[in-house]
Amino acid sequence: MKVHKLSDHYQTLGVSREASADEIKKAYRKLARELHPDVNPDPAVQDKFKEITAAYEVLSDSQKRQSYDMGGSAFGGGGFGGGFSDIMDAFFGGGGSRGPRPRMRAGQDSLIRVQVDLHEACFGTEREITVESAVVCPKCTGSGCIDGGQPSTCAVCRGRGESQQVVRSVIGQVMTSRPCNACGGYGSVIQNPCRECAGEGRVRSRQNIQVKIPAGVETGNRIQLSGRGEVGHGGGPAGDLYVEIVEIDHDYLIREGDTLHMSLSVSMSAAAIGTTVTVESLDGPVEVNVKAGTQSGTPIAIKGKGMTRLRHGGRGDLVVHVEVQTPTKLSREEEELLKKFADLRGEKSGDAHVKNPDGGIFSKIKGAFTK
Ligand SMILES: [Zn+2]
Ligand SMILES: [Zn+2]
Repeated sequence: MKVHKLSDHYQTLGVSREASADEIKKAYRKLARELHPDVNPDPAVQDKFKEITAAYEVLSDSQKRQSYDMGGSAFGGGGFGGGFSDIMDAFFGGGGSRGPRPRMRAGQDSLIRVQVDLHEACFGTEREITVESAVVCPKCTGSGCIDGGQPSTCAVCRGRGESQQVVRSVIGQVMTSRPCNACGGYGSVIQNPCRECAGEGRVRSRQNIQVKIPAGVETGNRIQLSGRGEVGHGGGPAGDLYVEIVEIDHDYLIREGDTLHMSLSVSMSAAAIGTTVTVESLDGPVEVNVKAGTQSGTPIAIKGKGMTRLRHGGRGDLVVHVEVQTPTKLSREEEELLKKFADLRGEKSGDAHVKNPDGGIFSKIKGAFTK
């Protein structure tokens, strides 16, 4: 939303607060001629032009002017009523058409989303996609005319593509132009339109397109296929087709940029004694060495088994997060063994202590707040 600075309407028009309606009108006319968009298309000047027009809209209406003088809301609140937009229309010609518009126009870009799994995102893949798009009409090859004919000059506008009108406004008579109704602004008319495309020069069609998806893509990446978008009106050049990647979540691998994370559950005894576990990575089975005495939450990085880097090449890491499982539902014998184990280590029942926040989860939490 554009925020306008509130300025004094009298100052804007350069008149005194006691100025008569006639003086205000005269002042506005003078300024409007200087600042008219046709004379000076500079955006800053156009803004100024809108400002003086807004000022005039208030001051030329006795009721609004009175309310404005008393500091009322008609100043900004009421906004630009019919009078104002009529004036603007007169100046800008309701779209400002200039001459016939070309029958052939550039086509639109299209967008299609493609789902890929993590493996495909990592190593790249090829995909056949089906798109519904506009293609050059095969019957008239884009001309829109039957049997190789040609559009003929519009009899109403004589090829100009616009009809002109003189509108009276506060600054005098203003010439406005609008697209010719008879020819739609083209300046020419197709007498015998092609039956296939009804004169549009293009038809809708379903196409199969082979798309190469590079290694390392992620959700939101767009692959641009130049000239594979929609063909334009009159068989004009096609836009581009964008294929947007949507990555499907993996069962247990979580992506974070080039890094993959996974969680590995290890029994208490295995974590204490140490073990080697085989896990399924994107590259197939890899061995994870869980060292003796590994604590729960310890990350183990496996170099080069993460995601492919899209632009720079190479691979990120796979980080395995160890989760030590405390045994539950102990049998009598197991419980006895664990008690014996605790005795051997000199541990007492209720042996626990508050840890200094020098590492582990506490430092992480603390870090999150003090960052
Ligand atoms: Zn056709
Ligand atoms: Zn016409």
